[in-house]
Amino acid sequence: MRAPQGVAILGATGSVGLSTLDVIARHSERFRVVALTANRDVEGMLALCRRHRPDWAVMVDAEAAQRLARELHGEAPDTQVLAGAEALSQVASMEQVDTVMAAIVGAAGLLPTLEAARSGKRILLANKEALVMAGALFMQEVAAGGATLLPVDSEHNALFQGMPAAYVPGAGRPEGVTRILLTASGGPFRTTAAEQMSKLSPEQACAHPTWDMGRKISVDSATMMNKGLEVIEACWLYTMPEEDVQVIIHPQSVVHSMVQYQDGSVLAQLGNPDMRTPIAHCLAWPQRIEAGVEPLDMFAVGRLDFEPPDLRRFPCLRLAQEAWHAGGTAATILNAANEIAVQAFLDRRLAFTEIHGVIEATLAQLVSAEADSIERILEHDARARACASELVSGRRTAQRVYS
Ligand code: NDP
Ligand code: MG
Repeated sequence: MRAPQGVAILGATGSVGLSTLDVIARHSERFRVVALTANRDVEGMLALCRRHRPDWAVMVDAEAAQRLARELHGEAPDTQVLAGAEALSQVASMEQVDTVMAAIVGAAGLLPTLEAARSGKRILLANKEALVMAGALFMQEVAAGGATLLPVDSEHNALFQGMPAAYVPGAGRPEGVTRILLTASGGPFRTTAAEQMSKLSPEQACAHPTWDMGRKISVDSATMMNKGLEVIEACWLYTMPEEDVQVIIHPQSVVHSMVQYQDGSVLAQLGNPDMRTPIAHCLAWPQRIEAGVEPLDMFAVGRLDFEPPDLRRFPCLRLAQEAWHAGGTAATILNAANEIAVQAFLDRRLAFTEIHGVIEATLAQLVSAEADSIERILEHDARARACASELVSGRRTAQRVYS
């Protein structure tokens, strides 16, 4: 029998991290949990360590790491607790690790995921922000390090499943493919009137109609920035021009995306909206394993609807498309400004309808440059965060909306 695949899960306490552990626990003969990481959720990590007994547990926050080590003491003597952001890169490149699940939210996931690429790991990529902010560099490191890049994001995983046999992301434009049809649920505000939108609360934004996800991506889905980030993600993964990536609103979230071929064929991947399907697909690829997902009942689904996106009510999608065309660090700036604006909205310091304005103004104020080094990318990320934070403090609508 083959030795089990050693897995490191970056962002283990999050929505994707927990779904990954759920799939892994169904196949303990195939996978071994080598490392788990979190930012500061000690309770969450404690439960995971008790259940999965990793060799290493990383907490980025030093105090949280101390608390975890104290709580685990005597209980899980084989789990070593590490602290700090550097420890993320350390576990992502360990010899015992074959597979890295990149499921940290936001730019914080970039450096460890790059390290996994350099170390030639099998990378299961959920952390789309890493690709958006540093796509060219990331794809270069994947190729140079001999890593295998497998997309976990449900749409990109669906596309991967519809690609020609033996095709893997990063292998250039897939032969015979004319278009990518990227589906989007439309989020919780798909039918909300424009006049209502300034009053929308974080709770409403996080109540996604079809997917249960972390708070940041839930807000991204509500603004449709998520689909914008995914357009950029698709362009990098599949070497496609943005013009050949069509966004299609599909409220049922059953068709997870489609690949159109030059002979007129359109290959779609369908399934219930449950991240365990793309996660299991990537974990076992090229084989298939059971994922605990309910089989799709087409009679219960009943109908599949498709409609074009409304760029007027959802300008974030347009901003992402423009940033892709601007090239260089424009997508880095877009991503950073979005992270700041989304956090401000979640903290009730910014109205829902001000999110795009902060991003657009940040893009207008900063001059983008070649995204040719990690130093340059991190510098532009930091500048965009500073600029967007200042813009947030200048806005006053949120006070009226939430007071
Ligand atoms: P969550 O917010 O649920 O989880 C985020 C994870 O990242 C947690 O483990 C968190 O630790 C950790 N984390 C947060 N900040 C830092 C930091 N600064 N340094 C290190 N670790 C950190 O996010 P999701 O699981 O929803 O999303 C994860 C990624 O996957 C995102 O990039 C998202 O876009 C992508 N994705 C998610 C989908 C979903 O269904 N949720 C679908 C497709 C893509 P702690 O708990 O300690 O805060
Ligand atoms: Mg997605």
